[in-house]
Amino acid sequence: MTSNDLVPCCWTPHDGKRHAYRGDLRDEGVTVMSLCCRVIVVRHYAINAEERCWPECETCAQRARELAAEHQMRGLIGPIEVSLPAYGSCH
Ligand SMILES: [Zn+2]
Repeated sequence: MTSNDLVPCCWTPHDGKRHAYRGDLRDEGVTVMSLCCRVIVVRHYAINAEERCWPECETCAQRARELAAEHQMRGLIGPIEVSLPAYGSCH
């Protein structure tokens, strides 16, 4: 994952469960390493695909929460490096 990723992780259905992988959405057919260390092929699912109802992989769900927290933290720290507009000067 690089700091340029917009989201901490994405989900893809695999083997009866939904697994997550780091970073932005990858193209369909791309092989990625899931958060639970499985090698999986990314599949995009349709809005009403039954795979959306598959249970989350517990390991992925746990790590996804950690990544989301990290990602949010970076989002809070990040803007300080960028020049901020005059904030709080117009009371
Ligand atoms: Zn998993």
